Amino acid sequence: MAALTGREGPKPFTAEARLFRRPATGEPIDFGLALFMPPPNNYTGEPIAEFMVHGGPAIVASMLDALTSLPDVRLAEPGEFTRRAFENGKLDLTKAEALADLVDAETEGQRRQALRQYRGALEKRIEGWRRTLIEISALMEAEIDFPDEEVPEGVAEGARAKIAHLTGEFAAFLADAHRGERVREGFRIAIIGAPNVGKSSLLNALAQREAAIVSDIPGTTRDVVEVRLVLAGFPVWIADTAGLREASDQIEAEGVRRALERARDADLRIAVIDGGVSAKALSEVRQGDLVVLNKIDLAPPESHGITHRISARTGEGMPALIATLEARVVQALGAEEAAPLTRARHRAQLEEAHAALLRADQALALGPELAAEDVRLAARALGRLTGRIDVEDILGEIFARFCIGK
Ligand code: GDP
Repeated sequence: MAALTGREGPKPFTAEARLFRRPATGEPIDFGLALFMPPPNNYTGEPIAEFMVHGGPAIVASMLDALTSLPDVRLAEPGEFTRRAFENGKLDLTKAEALADLVDAETEGQRRQALRQYRGALEKRIEGWRRTLIEISALMEAEIDFPDEEVPEGVAEGARAKIAHLTGEFAAFLADAHRGERVREGFRIAIIGAPNVGKSSLLNALAQREAAIVSDIPGTTRDVVEVRLVLAGFPVWIADTAGLREASDQIEAEGVRRALERARDADLRIAVIDGGVSAKALSEVRQGDLVVLNKIDLAPPESHGITHRISARTGEGMPALIATLEARVVQALGAEEAAPLTRARHRAQLEEAHAALLRADQALALGPELAAEDVRLAARALGRLTGRIDVEDILGEIFARFCIGK
């Protein structure tokens, strides 16, 4: 502070106007605000100074130059502030990840989910589970260490009931259709149907731009074309898939293969038919699909099994279809209060904990020693999830994805 502004201070957490100067020459750089935030109640748990200057590139370059000319001062690595905050115990790993998500959030749904996780929703739940596991361990240790003593009746029963309860909770939590990951990465909709029914036209109508080539030569969409939309505040990927039909050449065959794969993995499918091909196309339809009859400007509407009637060309029926898509997205992603798993990393650790508890449950019949080991493994997996233990090797990867300055 003194090197740049000629004086120490300002008072903690009090912004003060200062003239910033080059330390070597004393040449003024800019007027701005200086703020000093001592630990412990700040972001990183280490002393922090913040300088607010006018944002012009020459000013910023000059300030950075002035600062890095000082001994022991260098530019931060991506995520380094958050990493230090984590290492100083200011936040757990789920909160650190949530901060990265918050900065990256492009939609309201993503922002809300990231903020909930940043405020500790996921950490609380996982730490709660971990504490229960440690209690169970303690009950079992008592049985192992004092086999001949009077361990109160029902201790083993208590442990068993708790293990069964937690196993159920883990399973329910894992069976969430990847909701939190979808909010981060996007809900996936696939448009399927026979060639020429108007899939590309529908995609364009939804995207309101020419994302896919529309043509009346069957089989023009040879690959999977995806556009990203925001529906009801959530990110959504809509894929137009190559027409599902006998392929006439290899490239098209590859398109059909990818279409099938994409359609299989989609969270929601829109099966498009037109007057001509309904019967065959409907055999592809599975439960939960929207069945959309296109080209109603041409064909007399037929009624069998159809959820929506549209004309991708005139736009008729599109508002109702979009409203349904929004409702489906909200139904799938919108549960506000829960604290979902938001990364594959979380899922992997919880799956490991779940598997360990299932083993513990089986092992209980053979005696507490084996079961206790599996309960410990389950607790470890949860500890890795919040970053309490064993995470050194993954930290670099997690924080490298942050932007600089966070
Ligand atoms: P895809 O092969 O299923 O992707 O179908 P396209 O979107 O390429 O459309 C095939 C043909 O149907 C094109 O000539 C479109 O202009 C036409 N088409 C698409 N939607 C409509 C519609 O709602 N009404 C009419 N009359 N023609 C349409």
